[in-house]
Amino acid sequence: MVILDGKATADQIKIEIAEKVEDIIKKGGKRPHLAAILVGDDGASQTYVGHKERACVQAGFKSTILRFPAETSEEKLLEEIALINADNDIDGLIVQLPLPKHINEQKVIEAIDPMKDVDGFHPVNVGRMVLGLPSFVSATPDGIMELISRYKIETAGKHCVIIGRSNIVGRPMANLLSQKSNPGDCTVTMCHSRTKNLKEHTLQADIIIAALGVPGFLKGDMVKEGAVVIDVGITRVKADTKTGFRLAGDVLFSEVSPKSSFITPVPGGVGPMTITSLLKNTLKASGN
Ligand code: NAD
Repeated sequence: MVILDGKATADQIKIEIAEKVEDIIKKGGKRPHLAAILVGDDGASQTYVGHKERACVQAGFKSTILRFPAETSEEKLLEEIALINADNDIDGLIVQLPLPKHINEQKVIEAIDPMKDVDGFHPVNVGRMVLGLPSFVSATPDGIMELISRYKIETAGKHCVIIGRSNIVGRPMANLLSQKSNPGDCTVTMCHSRTKNLKEHTLQADIIIAALGVPGFLKGDMVKEGAVVIDVGITRVKADTKTGFRLAGDVLFSEVSPKSSFITPVPGGVGPMTITSLLKNTLKASGN
């Protein structure tokens, strides 16, 4: 069994990106600039934005975080997005989700200039991705594709079972892995909360992508010998640690890892790869 070390891979990609940035600057080019909007004071969102900012610094990017109180109106947020869209110094913009209930997330996503939408959530980018055209692919699916690619995992003709059909993970993942590409060329089954006999599907899978957000959901008896297992889940569960919680994946690692050929740990698997894909997209948005 091989552990898919997302942290080490992401560190390597960050070095590669930082080298590219240095080269751009040496040639008189512009430093890539990522702006992040954070509304409210949700602990997990603050942590994620903090990680993104640190990664920007490591890669030599300029990073701006715009913080707004939870009671900020939708109108005010849309105005701020319009300002950033018009700001030539800012290459990429992300709005950390979830947003407070009174703000329409879809409206906010659609207000972002698709050319700055480095999260790849805008319908223009989603549509282009589905058609296999150049686009910003959302960071988590892109990070998973990169991890599969860097570990040279064979995907052509394999049966991939994806658990979860969200717009940010399951659905784009199903699309990317079914495309005529490498990685790709998979036969894909997408399972979700209404799927009957889910275990019958997972037992047939050569590759399983668990993205449902239920800690320890995928057990050893649901996986066939030699399967590749990618665990996207990150749920904060109470624990006797300094922070009072630990991060739990959707895969019961102790049971599944002995049966798998490749497996991602949580933490240190998909999470760090997500951030490097955001950097990749920002570099692309800056015209490099
Ligand atoms: P979501 O809640 O939007 O979607 C969950 C999906 O799982 C739904 O489509 C639902 O139908 C399905 N599902 C729920 N319970 C199920 C069950 N019992 N059986 C089968 N399917 C079931 O979640 P999401 O945004 O796609 O995120 C999924 C998980 O991935 C969460 O833990 C989230 O924190 C994590 N995540 C991690 C990263 C990362 O960078 N590592 C990025 C995004 C999301």
